[in-house]
Amino acid sequence: MSTKSFPLSKARLEEMERLYPTPFYIYDEKAIRENARRINRAFSVFPAYQEHFAVKALPNPFILKILMEEGFGADCSSLPELLLADMAGMKGEAVMFTSNETPAREYIKARELGAVINLDDFTHIEFLEKILKLPDGNSGLPDLISCRYNPGPLKGGNAIIGKPEEAKYGFTREQLIEGYRLLKRKGVRRFGLHCMVASNELSLDYHLETGRLLFELAVEIKGKCGLNLEFVNLGGGLGIPYRPEEEAVSWEALAGGLKKLYDRILGPAGLTNLAIHTEYGRPVTGPYGWLVARALHRKSIYREYVGLDSCMADLMRPALYGAYHHITIPGKENAPLTETCDVVGSLCENNDKFAVQRKLPKIAVSAENPYDPRSGDFVVIHDAGAHGRAMGFNYNGKLRCGELLLRPDGSVLRIRRAEKAEDYFATLDLAGLAAF
Ligand SMILES: *Cc1c(COP(=O)(O)O)cnc(C)c1O
Repeated sequence: MSTKSFPLSKARLEEMERLYPTPFYIYDEKAIRENARRINRAFSVFPAYQEHFAVKALPNPFILKILMEEGFGADCSSLPELLLADMAGMKGEAVMFTSNETPAREYIKARELGAVINLDDFTHIEFLEKILKLPDGNSGLPDLISCRYNPGPLKGGNAIIGKPEEAKYGFTREQLIEGYRLLKRKGVRRFGLHCMVASNELSLDYHLETGRLLFELAVEIKGKCGLNLEFVNLGGGLGIPYRPEEEAVSWEALAGGLKKLYDRILGPAGLTNLAIHTEYGRPVTGPYGWLVARALHRKSIYREYVGLDSCMADLMRPALYGAYHHITIPGKENAPLTETCDVVGSLCENNDKFAVQRKLPKIAVSAENPYDPRSGDFVVIHDAGAHGRAMGFNYNGKLRCGELLLRPDGSVLRIRRAEKAEDYFATLDLAGLAAF
């Protein structure tokens, strides 16, 4: 069981409404910091540990700055993500650049920032060498390079990311061995190994198994390529309990289980200085962010519907994956679940539903009292702190909501404003329209 809480009361939300009308995201800074400390403490069993927060999960530099202060770096896979990490003060090898189908200018920027480049393919070794070649003809390859491994049939599938053998990422095992040999010949001196094979996976054993696979591979690489890897990056993909009946993976059990495998496999091979890196996104911020909306309309047709002032432009996961997000109604936390309804957004797509046939307390809607648009209940959508606002889009002219930060002292800071119509039009070449 996992408990679903929300740090603000209905009265506080009403108080905030004048400055911050719904919908909005709100993140709990104190909870994010405490969680980051728990992660670092659990993984302190290793000689060295570095978490590179997956920026794509929550690409806001305020959040990145908080995580930087807690010792985390970033995992980036695009130029804007590199710039965000830089903005937040994450520098050099604290940043991992794990991209695929990468344009030259992104590799060049990553190199410029001193980020660790994690190659996605064997052919990228020569590509990178070509684009980084120095004017004097010498190799501009960085000292440290990491390679992404795709274990193919050696690793079982996972619901969201699919089977590794059908995934577009990474080197095969043979390519990896050849790749390290080639990099070594080209003068690279420090090496990392990376693997990311799961998404939202709640099985502890699955993640331990990935660790075992990579530790054994590190030993094989030592034997076949004559090099000691500097780090193994286990990637992200650790799940969170979206449903109240699910259980979170314990950081201590995960780090402790990995350490046992580490000692057993790497010890005899003399690889006892190997650093452990991770790229967790979802479990770092996911449970500590909420989408807050208001109930606007109710309709009773073949089913009962409650319509919000938000839509899937703000949170796509339910529409995209049929994902469950827990919903609570502030002020009605302990009210009996007397109705079954679909909680929907306003986008012209029928899968724009935050919840389908969900048992909830009776929800009041604003439209019942048009003279007081604030009379509708607040609707809190839980576990939206990762892959939430970030996945949003503007289809149907829908404008995405802003983001707030609940500070440890209880105050609220706006860290992203809501989009305006002008933002939606900003990329149009309107100057030419009149004469067109
Ligand atoms: C998305 C992604 C992550 C983070 O995944 P989570 O499920 O949020 O932990 C880490 N590494 C890479 C390469 C990714 O693509």
